[in-house]
Amino acid sequence: MLNIVLFGPPGAGKGTQSERLIEHFGLVHLSTGDIFRANIKGETELGLLAKSYMDQGNLVPDEVTINMLKSEVMKHESPKGFIFDGFPRTTAQAEALDAFLASINSSITKMIGLEVAEDELRERLRKRAEVSGRPDDANPEVIQNRINVYKNETAPVKGFYEAQGKYTAVNGIGSIDEITARLYKAIEE
Ligand code: ADP
Repeated sequence: MLNIVLFGPPGAGKGTQSERLIEHFGLVHLSTGDIFRANIKGETELGLLAKSYMDQGNLVPDEVTINMLKSEVMKHESPKGFIFDGFPRTTAQAEALDAFLASINSSITKMIGLEVAEDELRERLRKRAEVSGRPDDANPEVIQNRINVYKNETAPVKGFYEAQGKYTAVNGIGSIDEITARLYKAIEE
């Protein structure tokens, strides 16, 4: 399987680029943020729980997120691979993902990090708020908290894959097409 972790801070463009990648490589897109939002919309128990964390810009607890992710992976019969978007977001999630993939005789192929400067991120999220309807995009304090959570809890995940020789950085500034081309190259090399 071709299993890619698409990594980067909130607003880096993971969702947009994932759509291109799944089409090009024939992969399944698993966005934990999208799955949580679908659960909120469907008013499920998981959605209710996730909402209380997401609205503040905090992470949903690891155990809940990991169990959800595993059940999503298992929904697909003989997939070509996955794009993990927004997961793993903590070192504990990364460890759990490695162990889980090993248990189904698979592994992460690569982590690709979309690198974007903080000022640009804030500007993108502010613009996205006008169209996304996401409560966590609408409030500058929540945006700041998401950036802080990223730095404190998520950024270390890069080191986890670097230590395995699986990390590649991609410049996340440019046109959507330019960035897609960089990602294709990073995945294919
Ligand atoms: P973004 O990266 O643009 O902030 P996401 O849609 O990836 O947006 O995530 C939105 C929110 O969903 C996060 O702020 C967090 O509350 C929750 N979430 C998403 N993925 C995870 C995860 N892997 N672990 C914990 N919480 C998550």
